[in-house]
Amino acid sequence: MAVSNVPRIRLLDGLYGWDFLLRGHHGQELVIQFDWDYRLFAQAFGWSVERVRPELGCPHESTDGTVPCRSCGLTPADFLSDACDYLTESVGRSIPDPGFFTGDDVFGS
Ligand SMILES: [Zn+2]
Repeated sequence: MAVSNVPRIRLLDGLYGWDFLLRGHHGQELVIQFDWDYRLFAQAFGWSVERVRPELGCPHESTDGTVPCRSCGLTPADFLSDACDYLTESVGRSIPDPGFFTGDDVFGS
């Protein structure tokens, strides 16, 4: 349960309005400005494909958001814009660093 010494990261607004900034515990900064980054960072803050368009009643089990959902037909663009909205709502939040600044391989697979 020694989670208190896990470095935390904070999500901030980026410089241009459409991007985001991730600040590490030592002041390191990571700019999130590309579409394909949004999903990864949104997931770190708790986003998942299951929460996209709940009114469709589809858990989107056939996709991780990078390919169309075979069940309901939502496209990667749909998942992406939802991930982007989620990041926008998450600005100001901080979470334990899942590895963005600690060198763990969060970009793998
Ligand atoms: Zn679906």
